[in-house]
Amino acid sequence: MVSGPAGSGKGTVLAELLKEQNYRYSVSATTRAPRPGEVNGVNYHFLSRAEFEGRIGAGEMLEYTEYCGNYYGTPKKEAEAVLASGCNLLLEIEVEGAANVKAKYPEAVLIMLLPPSFAVQEARLRGRGTETEEKILERLSRTREEVPCVTHYDYVVYNHDGRVGDTADDIRAIVRAERAAVRRNGNAADNYFS
Ligand code: 5GP
Repeated sequence: MVSGPAGSGKGTVLAELLKEQNYRYSVSATTRAPRPGEVNGVNYHFLSRAEFEGRIGAGEMLEYTEYCGNYYGTPKKEAEAVLASGCNLLLEIEVEGAANVKAKYPEAVLIMLLPPSFAVQEARLRGRGTETEEKILERLSRTREEVPCVTHYDYVVYNHDGRVGDTADDIRAIVRAERAAVRRNGNAADNYFS
């Protein structure tokens, strides 16, 4: 699971990882309006509040939360299908959702993606030009609550300007190491002799 404050470059880094076949993304649902260029079913499943609440009621969400006035959630079916395929499931979710998933799936790996500094983050958000000043300030203030949650994460990765390839490499290295961890391979000796 990758979390990071607005402007950390989550979307760009995940797009880099998704170029490989063994990484798959679970498309989240949200009640936020699409940004220019975002496609329904690709970036998010864009739902009305009533539709989203209907899905919560039907138990179709693995986790969900309210973030800056909108619902965001992971559809259970979609995430389970990726896990069943044996691929690395990438979830791009905020800190509360990440904690909820970790409680249900302790084997999940939590990575916090950060810009090099708060100042760089602010410059990126303003440069992106996709949000109003009010939304930018809301997200920057939210960052002050999000980043300290890093102490509950397994890894922290910094995404420097123009170095998305290096950032993706850091995440690939974490995934490789986690897959080789002895605690995930308790049957290694049995497998070896069978
Ligand atoms: P944005 O509006 O910038 O696309 O996303 C806002 C925040 O919601 C980001 O921190 C993003 O990681 C988080 N988010 C996106 N999808 C989900 C989800 O399915 N569940 C949760 N809990 N957070 C999500």
